[in-house]
Amino acid sequence: MLAVSPIPAFDDNYIWLLRDPGSTQVTVGDPGDEWPVLTNLEAQGRELSAVLVTHHHYDHIGGVEALRAAFPKVRVLGPKDRRIRALTHVVREGDTVEIPGLSERFQVLEIPGHTSTHIAYLGAGALFCGDTLFAAGCGRVFDGTFDQLAASLERIAALPGETRCYCAHEYTLANLGFAGWVEPESTAIAQRKQTASNLRALGRPTVPSRLSEELATNPFLRTGVPTVRSAAEAASGKSLTTDAEVFTALRRWKDERYD
Ligand SMILES: [Zn+2]
Repeated sequence: MLAVSPIPAFDDNYIWLLRDPGSTQVTVGDPGDEWPVLTNLEAQGRELSAVLVTHHHYDHIGGVEALRAAFPKVRVLGPKDRRIRALTHVVREGDTVEIPGLSERFQVLEIPGHTSTHIAYLGAGALFCGDTLFAAGCGRVFDGTFDQLAASLERIAALPGETRCYCAHEYTLANLGFAGWVEPESTAIAQRKQTASNLRALGRPTVPSRLSEELATNPFLRTGVPTVRSAAEAASGKSLTTDAEVFTALRRWKDERYD
């Protein structure tokens, strides 16, 4: 059994806290800030045994060095990237990692595109996907490429539909706005907007989401759907043949004209 809960950070980040029920040892994912983590651990009387890093952006690693100073034995796992200095263990595609205090093992997936070295952790039916897949959206392309991000999302799309996707930001409502531009007739998107609005009105997270829900409403996982392709063609003003071309047109459309 794996218990996962969010620690909100900054304006819209989630630092995911993982633990076995009953255990006082915890793991956190992408701690951009140490304070909310330290406050949580102290309040609950828990100790940090590991940190999972998905990519080098500061709002994901900013708290790592201070957490290492506070817990000298902590393991810090992440991708090989000289921009991430505080790692104790480099992990790569195909690795299965054991984490102290957690009974589940995690598989490492290399999913570049948002950045060139972005990875995800998959275990217990949960995917910690950083800024690659968002609820109803996906990350921007920084130092990766559009083709890489398209291929990484295609890989995620092939996981079991019941996979719970733990992304690192609360962007769902804004993303659903764009999804509604792409597929204005979609009742699945309209229903998801309503559910997400209700959760946010109560101050509750809309994350994690089920992969099956993403496949039904997230335009970036729906590049093979004819209506999505037509919308991307209309927005880009050219005819598109491959799913990767549709993906690139959608991502540029959102970058340039939505937010
Ligand atoms: Zn990022």
